[in-house]
Order: sequence, then C-alpha cells, then structure tokens
Amino acid sequence: LREALILKASNQGSLRPGPTQRPRPITSEDLLRGFERNELYPAFQPKVHLATGQVVGCEALARWDSPTFGAVAPDEFIPLAEQSGLIKSITLQMLRDSVRMARHFLELDRSFEVAVNLSATLLSDTSIPEEIEKELEEADVPAQALIIEVTESTAMTDIARAMDVLLRLRIKGVGISIDDFGTGYSSLAALARMPFSELKIDRSFVKECLTDADMWKVVSASVAIAHQYDMKAVAEGIEDAETWRALDELGCDIGQGYGFARAMRRDAFDEWCRHWNRQHSLAITSERHQA
Ligand code: C2E
Ligand code: MG
Ligand code: MG
Ligand code: MG
Repeated sequence: LREALILKASNQGSLRPGPTQRPRPITSEDLLRGFERNELYPAFQPKVHLATGQVVGCEALARWDSPTFGAVAPDEFIPLAEQSGLIKSITLQMLRDSVRMARHFLELDRSFEVAVNLSATLLSDTSIPEEIEKELEEADVPAQALIIEVTESTAMTDIARAMDVLLRLRIKGVGISIDDFGTGYSSLAALARMPFSELKIDRSFVKECLTDADMWKVVSASVAIAHQYDMKAVAEGIEDAETWRALDELGCDIGQGYGFARAMRRDAFDEWCRHWNRQHSLAITSERHQA
C-alpha cells in the first residue's frame, strides 16, 4: 500500500519541461527583468516525518518560468543572481512568500516548518538576520517555523563569518540546516561549534544507499553524527518506499524526495497535503488492521 501511495504521489508532482534550446545565453539583465516581471516564484517540496508519514513542513525552491527561455533551473540562475547581487532581493521575496505559507499552515493549527536556502554571498551580509526577523514579524510567524538552509561548503568555508549571521538567527529561534552534507569538508570540531539544528544528507548518497554499501555507510554515519550533535537527521532525494523504510529503521528523522512529491506551487502543495494526510492516515489505519 505504501508503494502504491508513493507511486501515486510521485506522479502528481509538477514535471518541469526539460532543458530547452536557448535562443542565446541568459544574462543577469534577463534575470533582473524576469524578477521585475514576477516570473520567479517559490515551489514547495514537502518534508515528511519518516516514522509516521506526516508532513512536517517544506523546502521553498526558487523557480523561474521565463517566456523567452522556458523553465530555467535554479542551478543555472542562482549563480547568476549571486554574481549580480540580485540574490538578496530574490531571497527576501522567497522568505516573504514562505513565511506567509507557514502562517497559513499554523492557522490550521498544525506545527509547520518552512525552509529557505541562503546563499554564501548573503552570509557576509550582516543585515540579513534583521531582514529575516522583519519578515517573520510582518507575517506574525514565530521564528521556530522558519529554517534557513546553508550548504556545507558555504557554511564551512569561512566559519567565523557564517557563525555571526547564523548564531544571531539561531538565538532568535530560527532553525539552521546544514545542506548537502557529506559533499563539503566539515571538521567535526567546527560542526560542534556551529549552531545547526538539522543536518541534510545530500541526495547523491541517499539515491544509491540501498545498492552501494559505501553510500549506506555515509548515510548511516551522517545520521549518527546528526544525533550526536543534537540535530535532526534529514535525508534528501528519497525516491522509493524501500529507501523510506530503510532510513526510518536507521533512525533518520525526516525525508524529502520525489518519492513523496516534487516541489509544487503553493496551491498544488496545499492540495497535495490534504490528499496525502488523508490517504496516509487511511494507510496507517489499514496497516494496523492487517497486523
Ligand atoms: P538543494 O537546496 O539541495 O535542494 C534540493 C534539490 O534536490 C532541489 O533541486 C530538489 O528539486 C531536488 N530534489 C529533491 N528531491 C529529489 C529527488 O528525489 N530526486 C532528485 N533527482 N532530485 C530531488 P532544485 O529545485 O533544482 O534546486 C537546486 C539547488 O538550487 C538547491 O539545492 C539549492 O542549492 C539551489 N536553490 C534553489 N532555490 C534557491 C533559493 O531560493 N536560494 C538559493 N540560494 N539557492 C536555491
Ligand atoms: Mg536546500
Ligand atoms: Mg540539499
Ligand atoms: Mg543537494
């Protein structure tokens, strides 16, 4: 039943068109124009509590649907935004939309956490903690409902600088996630000093963890590190029910991946959650009946 649900869920995700033939290379002016014309928006990918299947929140992922270039992937336009400085405006817009989304779920009396990615370039911007607090206050959302994700390589390249911004956010109650864990070079000592509340295991390890013993070792060691340091362990890139089950048995707390759903626009996300939670509570009940 779990398998059937997962298949169903993955088919519901909004598929983005593949890479299109570009009329010309994209410039930062194109991106700026696209931003001003509201062509950028957040898509939300659910994060699921592995033991119960309940949705605990989501990650906001930037999308750009350009009339000229089609769907441009964030791996392509985020570096462009970082170079041109537009990343700050994009991130603040992502934050604004995300905290509003969190507010909506909190009103449905559910605990809900929304995660927003923060670029390396913004970790040296000391106005960022205040800007984030302002967005939380304006949406009347508690800091505990927000998670800021920074990649391992970003956070660990200049620890002193990252520490300042991240600690100020963490003290306010904002969750801090170390993203793409396992792909950078963290020292265990530095990891202990950083104010992380969550560790996200990179999907390159999760993807093959059931077929490649070395990958499994990386994943299980990462879960152990997370718990030793009082962080939640999150696996990204869960694509099938076997991986879900194995990671749950390993003690990994939360999962995210196409096996649950792809990132979706706000309306589709709401709809998916309703469907998922209803189906899922049914699935749990009938599994109990069978047992
Ligand atoms: P990330 O933060 O590690 O986000 C996870 C990426 O993995 C997303 O790609 C997501 O769609 C993808 N993913 C999730 N589950 C699966 C799965 O089961 N299978 C596969 N194959 N992929 C999965 P996406 O949306 O293309 O984003 C790529 C990266 O771009 C993100 O990696 C993040 O580093 C960056 N990014 C996206 N939005 C933003 C943003 O608003 N600000 C910044 N600074 N970076 C962003
Ligand atoms: Mg992320
Ligand atoms: Mg990640
Ligand atoms: Mg990743």
